[in-house]
Amino acid sequence: MKGYTVGADVGGTHVRLALLTPEGELRRVVKYRREEVMPDGDPFRFGDVLRQYAEDCAVPVAAAGTGIPGTLSRDCRTVLNVPNIPALNGLELADGLSRRAGFPVKLENDTVMLLGGDLHRLSLPRRGLILGVYVGTGLGSAVFYDARPLRGANSLNELGHFPIPGSRVKCTCGNVGCAENLVSGRRLQALRAEKWPETHIAELFPAMAGSPELAEFVDTAACLLAGCVNLLDPEVLVVGGGVPAMRGFPREALEAAVREKCMHPRPADSLRLVWSQGADDTGALGAAWLARES
Ligand SMILES: [Zn+2]
Repeated sequence: MKGYTVGADVGGTHVRLALLTPEGELRRVVKYRREEVMPDGDPFRFGDVLRQYAEDCAVPVAAAGTGIPGTLSRDCRTVLNVPNIPALNGLELADGLSRRAGFPVKLENDTVMLLGGDLHRLSLPRRGLILGVYVGTGLGSAVFYDARPLRGANSLNELGHFPIPGSRVKCTCGNVGCAENLVSGRRLQALRAEKWPETHIAELFPAMAGSPELAEFVDTAACLLAGCVNLLDPEVLVVGGGVPAMRGFPREALEAAVREKCMHPRPADSLRLVWSQGADDTGALGAAWLARES
């Protein structure tokens, strides 16, 4: 499918839409309040919004992709669990949106869409295995093989819920001691509140560089990344999200620690780590790109 496609990135608060041209350029990025376009009382109304957006673009739209911040059925048609938008839980969203949009609407997990956007934007290899890890409010991950999402039995890829020995923090998933509670924006907020209430969150890394707490944060992140690299041996490891984009985030120290913890000489020496550019429209780009490729 090489026509025009629309990409949607659905978050708890906002939804971004964008148009991908056959030449691979992203156009007409718009941001809505989620409640306006996908209200809890009638989430399928988003299909009307997609149809109207396509009409406004005045080009023939072949399909749309929509990134959902939660768990989908293996065939990606039914929403299983979206903690930030529980009104979506149990809905056959793909079919309902497609009917109202008038063109096929594909669903995917939002982290998969992010990595899809990075694959396209960073011109990453279309062959082999690509691993993406995104540290934002939480900790998300995705894997592509030959430019398609790699799917397990439940289509899950949840590095954020890797259990950490000794940690007793209750996780949003209901378990105790998940990695997301140690490596995430939420963890940084908790550290700030507990240790450095006078410091603005945006200044945390420059102001507290060298503190044992931030050193442990980076070390735990490196352990998780190196573990994934040893397990999957990716062609490329993409690291992104709001946390590595923060001012003063020790990217070089993290990369050095990942290499140190990887097996030697490979993949430690051969690892290609690239940083996501972290643009706001990456998820919408990935959604449109995956709709085009599928
Ligand atoms: Zn968890």
